[in-house]
Amino acid sequence: MLNKEFKRKDVERMRNLIKGKSGESAETQVGYTSKKEDRKEGDVWEENGKKWIIKDGIKQTYTKLDEIKKEAILPLFCPNCGTLMKKRNDSKMYKLHKKCFDCVIEMEHKLKIEGKYEEYEKNMMANNAEDYINDFESYLLEALNTSNTQFVSEAGEVERWKGGIDKEKLSKEIKQAASEFRESINKFRNKTNDQA
Ligand SMILES: [Zn+2]
Repeated sequence: MLNKEFKRKDVERMRNLIKGKSGESAETQVGYTSKKEDRKEGDVWEENGKKWIIKDGIKQTYTKLDEIKKEAILPLFCPNCGTLMKKRNDSKMYKLHKKCFDCVIEMEHKLKIEGKYEEYEKNMMANNAEDYINDFESYLLEALNTSNTQFVSEAGEVERWKGGIDKEKLSKEIKQAASEFRESINKFRNKTNDQA
């Protein structure tokens, strides 16, 4: 078992990180040998050939953020029907289906007529759950690899351990848990497809 050290000053430090005041009241820890520069919210820098940023108090790669941004950008025209996407629901639908709201309505209407709507709906649910697990897994693995002395728990709290953490063991555990989730999602997906 790891020797967990979670003190009042850690809570305070986390609070400062969230408020964008990283560094304030953070003490040098015994056994913490690696040089650490104080970073604050929005800081961007390069390290080990990667671009990093402090976002929401958490160190993360800048590239990933770029990809998320790209993903969220709405093209002017629907790739499916070519009309201008300017309606309120277009952006939400594009993120999910890569087409405009009207195209999604039409597609779903067609599926209802063909009796395939329920299968489609359940697949959408399975896909969403899968996306969530994949994101959560990579978030945890990334958080784990940014520091040797802290770990972001499931509840989003930063926890610290004396003497560092066993990255290999924790990575394995995270991957194991994620693959179990994916397995149950697949079971759910296959079950619905058989019934349909
Ligand atoms: Zn369209």
